[in-house]
Amino acid sequence: MNFNKLKFGSTIGIIGGGQLGKMMAQSAQKMGYKVIVLDPDPACPCQYVAHEFINAEYDNQESLEQLGELSDVITYEFENISADQLKTLVSKYNIPQGYQAIQLLQDRLTEKQTLQKANCKIAPFVQLSKTDDLNIAIETIGYPFIVKTRFGGYDGKGQILVNSASDIDEAKALLEKQECVAEQYLQLEKEVSLTVTIGNDNQITYFPLQENEHQNQILFKTIVPARTEHEKEAEARNEVDKIIKNIHFVGTFTVEFFIDGENRLYVNEIAPRPHNSGHYSIEACDFSQFDTHILAITGQKLPEQIELLKPAIMMNLLGKDLDLLEDQFSEHAEWHVHIYGKTSRKPNRKMGHLTVLTTDIDKCEQALLDKFEGRSQ
Ligand code: ADP
Ligand code: MG
Repeated sequence: MNFNKLKFGSTIGIIGGGQLGKMMAQSAQKMGYKVIVLDPDPACPCQYVAHEFINAEYDNQESLEQLGELSDVITYEFENISADQLKTLVSKYNIPQGYQAIQLLQDRLTEKQTLQKANCKIAPFVQLSKTDDLNIAIETIGYPFIVKTRFGGYDGKGQILVNSASDIDEAKALLEKQECVAEQYLQLEKEVSLTVTIGNDNQITYFPLQENEHQNQILFKTIVPARTEHEKEAEARNEVDKIIKNIHFVGTFTVEFFIDGENRLYVNEIAPRPHNSGHYSIEACDFSQFDTHILAITGQKLPEQIELLKPAIMMNLLGKDLDLLEDQFSEHAEWHVHIYGKTSRKPNRKMGHLTVLTTDIDKCEQALLDKFEGRSQ
């Protein structure tokens, strides 16, 4: 597919004004584009970088159309926009990403069905529409399994780990509020992710394989290159190639993977947008995941290959990490600190991140872990 090439001076409209929108805007501005952001929070991180700001809910059709009128291209920083509304916008405005990826991926059930259709390896799952369906999960998957809401979950929100019959009531309570899926809980050896950008004429560019560690289901750190055997990267690319035959992507997206104790790779989920585990690319690669996203949606050629300039460690800075470490930022020139500019600090809210480039990953990792040691769980 081929779409409009946008000259510098054109305007990019972004739905969502969080940290992903902010870092997209910063890449766009470097290339000479103007940025308009729509977000319900007037104090969102993008307030510092947008040329214009539309303060409205994500489902406010009139405001979305206003964004369309003012922009030469529209993109989004998160997947929980109404697919129907996006479809209407796609028919009127330049939205190279389309609505299909959002439609399939904002619902964990259709996401898993699409992955099955693509022949990707995923953890066994069952659909949960009513509380009785939990019996099917117990019979077919067995304990332990995780119940996840179909819509709207992130950073482990909307998930219950069911280890035994004593957790069933909690799962039932979640299921009474929302439809869910149940998924086998895997004994993970490692988590990895692959960030990819697709541009004009279906040009595809892969970032290096990323190794991720979560704490309380929130990304804690990313190490690149991932410390896995070399073939895992090719295996992950192969899974991505299967996925893109079934989902129309333009721009940057990330596939999250699990590796179990028997070294098997499973696709966990797909984020149709720049991703937290790709933030290291701002300093560590010759193009960041945000740069390639902007190049893609403005119809420009992508770099054929992304060069990792130096191995890197990215650590998220949650509110509790900022409390612990902010006084030390001035002592560590090697920490590339990013602060998103969120006005209210909460213990588990992502407030920023830091990236360190190093030729000695293990030593650097240990030094960082020592710094983060006092963090409350
Ligand atoms: P989110 O949308 O919150 O990122 P995920 O499904 O990726 O949701 O879950 C968050 C984290 O929880 C994962 O990165 C992983 O650490 C853990 N997790 C989720 N599902 C499983 C599973 N089936 N087995 C083991 N760990 C899991
Ligand atoms: Mg995830």
